[in-house]
Order: sequence, then structure tokens, then C-alpha cells
Amino acid sequence: MQSSSSYPEAVEQLIAGFRRLPGVGARTAERLALAVLRWTPEELHDFGLLLATLPERVGECRVCGNLAEDDLCPVCRDPARDQSIICVVENADQVPVIERSGGHRGLYHVLGGRIVPLDGIGPEDLRIGELRARLDSGEVRELVLATGSDIEGEATATYLARELRRPGLAITRIATGIPVGADLAFADSATLATALNSRRPVG
Ligand SMILES: [Zn+2]
Repeated sequence: MQSSSSYPEAVEQLIAGFRRLPGVGARTAERLALAVLRWTPEELHDFGLLLATLPERVGECRVCGNLAEDDLCPVCRDPARDQSIICVVENADQVPVIERSGGHRGLYHVLGGRIVPLDGIGPEDLRIGELRARLDSGEVRELVLATGSDIEGEATATYLARELRRPGLAITRIATGIPVGADLAFADSATLATALNSRRPVG
């Protein structure tokens, strides 16, 4: 890193730390590091403690697999959510995106990935057994499959629709127009709300 060669080792390490973040290049990392250096010792301590305790404080929701600080995530803990509809997503970072769209008032189920046979990722590697157990409770009337619109996302949705089919349960697919895979994290809210509202039955 040429531009930062005059920095002490600790500052170099701080810059390298910021560079690990998505979308942060060398100059932005340098700017962020210099800004952090202006914080008070107390601010630095608190932020450092926050980072250091993340592994023990943030885990998976026991029910849906979403990010959770306690046993249950904020969505599962909210009694106002519609318990009869579950939106199935690939990863936890897709939950806040769908939340912001306002198109879903039910619960979630985070699979923890998608079926990719070439990478050796099969159904048994995803949280499908947990989903089946939730359906067994009998409260769920609709499953909205919001996996990606690329080949693997579609294949995962097709697999789930076939495997989870049962009387009294509607299985629907979010309408197309959603960017593939992880890009769902950047889908715009209006498009996503439309896609959620115009979902269609599958299976
Ligand atoms: Zn949850």
C-alpha cells in the first residue's frame, strides 16, 4: 500500500482492516482509519468491545435462522407478525431487505444457502429439516419461496416446492425481477414489494 507507507504499523493494520470491507478501496480505508484515530480513548474502547463480543452476542435464531442476539430474532419475537405465512430466503442478509420493502408481514426461514450440486451443497446442508418441523406445527398456511432467480435459486425453490408439498399449504414463488443471489441485498424496495405481492403458486 504505497500511499500509507509513512504510517506506523498499527495504523497500517487499521487501514488493512477497513480494506477488508466490501466497497472500501485504499483511499477510503485510509480516510476511515484517520477518522477513527480522532476518536476519544473511550469511544475506541467501546467500539473495540462491540466488535470483540459480536461472536458471543450474535448468533442464529433458534426458530428461523435469522440473526439473533437472544434465543429468538426480533421477527420471531414480534406477536404482531402473521404466523401463518413464512418467507423462505437463502441468507440472513436478505431479511432486512425484504423488511424494508414492506411487502411481507409474516415470518421468515433462512436456509443458510442454496442447493449447488457442483459445490457439493445438497438439501441436507440447508435448514430444510427445521422448516419441515415448523410446517408440522400446522399453523402455516403459505410458504413464499424467495430464493434467487438464477438457476440455483430456481432449482432450490423447485426442490422445496416438491418436498414440502402438503394439504392445506399454499406454496408460492416470488415474482421474477429480483437480482440473483446475494444481489437481493441491494434490490430496491418498490420492485421487491411488487415481486412479493405478485407471487404465484408453484409445485
Ligand atoms: Zn427468528
